[in-house]
Amino acid sequence: MATDTLTASIGTGSSARVYKNFIDGEWVESRTGDMFEDRNPADTREIVGIFQKSGKEDVDAAVDAAKRAFKKWRLVPAPRRAEIIYRATEILMERKEECSRDMTREMGKVIKETRGDVQEAIDTGYYMAGEGRRMFGPTVPSELPNKFAMAVRQPLGVCVMITPWNFPMAIPSWKLFPAIVAGNTCVIKPAQDTPLSVFNFVRALADAGLPKGVVNIVTGFGSRIGGPLLDNPEVRAVSLTGSTDVGRIVGEAAAKSFIRCSLELGGKNPMIVLDDANLDLAIDGALWGAFGTTGQRCTATSRIILQKGIYEEFTQRLVERAKALKVGNGLDETVDMGPAINEGQLKTDLEYVEIGKNESAKMLCGGNRLDSGSYAHGWFMQPTVFGDVDRKMRIAQEEIFGPVVSLLPADDLDDAIEIANNIKYGLSSAIYTRDVNKAFAAMRDLEAGITYINAPTIGAEVHLPFGGVKQTGNGHREGGLGAIDFYTEWKSVYVDYSDKLQKAQIDRPE
Ligand code: NAD
Repeated sequence: MATDTLTASIGTGSSARVYKNFIDGEWVESRTGDMFEDRNPADTREIVGIFQKSGKEDVDAAVDAAKRAFKKWRLVPAPRRAEIIYRATEILMERKEECSRDMTREMGKVIKETRGDVQEAIDTGYYMAGEGRRMFGPTVPSELPNKFAMAVRQPLGVCVMITPWNFPMAIPSWKLFPAIVAGNTCVIKPAQDTPLSVFNFVRALADAGLPKGVVNIVTGFGSRIGGPLLDNPEVRAVSLTGSTDVGRIVGEAAAKSFIRCSLELGGKNPMIVLDDANLDLAIDGALWGAFGTTGQRCTATSRIILQKGIYEEFTQRLVERAKALKVGNGLDETVDMGPAINEGQLKTDLEYVEIGKNESAKMLCGGNRLDSGSYAHGWFMQPTVFGDVDRKMRIAQEEIFGPVVSLLPADDLDDAIEIANNIKYGLSSAIYTRDVNKAFAAMRDLEAGITYINAPTIGAEVHLPFGGVKQTGNGHREGGLGAIDFYTEWKSVYVDYSDKLQKAQIDRPE
């Protein structure tokens, strides 16, 4: 096998590693000859790696390799496929610290959180390895004598995965592990800001003995290779996690060729805090939900809906705590919040601060870029809280994807739920209350794929369905059995051992 990287001189006397695509079990350079840099958002002077800027030819080579590999991989017994997943998971466990540090360097979130991201991939690996011995299907009694009826799961074929930068190993693991345990072969295109984490993930699979062509990586820009990935007639399914705008493009392309399509998109997640809540707990949850991953989670707590009785106290205490958060390089274990992923995202965050001010929301803390001293070379900003936000304001309606949280007053539970649901998204939701009746009413009435009681909007576990309603997606779920459902096709099988023609619905035994 050719080596996975090269070393390139980058001027200034220093050098950076050049990472290659992974196609048909070989680490190969792009046929375009173009490359792009992956820089550390906490210190953009650091080049984390140089990656292949792939084109259509690379995509076609990867899809061809996956198609060839499918012929054999689909026939490998699922428990054997699962053993490779299990081995790869053990390798990830050994490499957890190295992978976490790489991830913080390439996308900025604090090291405790990148350890959590790698752990989520590990948890998914163990769960999906177990699935190799399950993948249950129904066996039902036939309506005719001497006839056997069952349904079995079959793989789809070549699956394309397009992933975002905010969970750069966890999200690829949600897609790749269930796809391959079910017998599919894959081409993954990581986000251009975080190819190294996908490289680390797939290297573990390759080192665990995954046969060539079963998983292929093509790095590059979605605008350039998204089209070729979706237009290739050999592709049977696409799974995208990303923004609602890109979801629309991918969904339309998939619809044209009738390929199966899973879209996991944006969110604007509400946390309701009622007058009877444990405020200490709710404030801890709000800080973690709003500013964890610099607010760049699809499940980030971006709207906090406060019943009027606790509005003032909650607001004052939250703002005090938000001001005290330590912003900085995520490799420093004492830092609470890292930078924005890139210049464009920071610009968006700061634009929304202006939008909030112009809408007459009350700026309670933050709102500024941090760019002096140790912040000089990164995309940092202050944790930002807006109060007295009206439900119709843009900062209450649009996904910002940064450390900007809106506080909205509500009269009672019904009003709070109405505010929470008054949005085009529906990924996660939370309520803090000590009243079991209100908690159950919220579980029933919040329009979201996930509801937490007395916990913030983040913290999904890998063995329950993950995904949202309304414009957060198109109804599929990752995690748990939903993932196996997406990556398999049902085949119903009837075995007639009566030795005569029996007509269903017509020959009715007395
Ligand atoms: P993005 O939509 O900009 O990019 C996602 C991926 O799509 C990237 O790999 C990108 O290269 C690719 N892409 C871009 N244009 C494309 C095109 N024309 N055709 C095909 N692919 C294309 O999103 P992002 O900035 O990487 O991630 C942030 C977004 O992801 C947020 O909206 C967030 O809410 C969402 N997200 C959702 C979930 C979820 O499970 N619902 C999880 C994480 C992130």
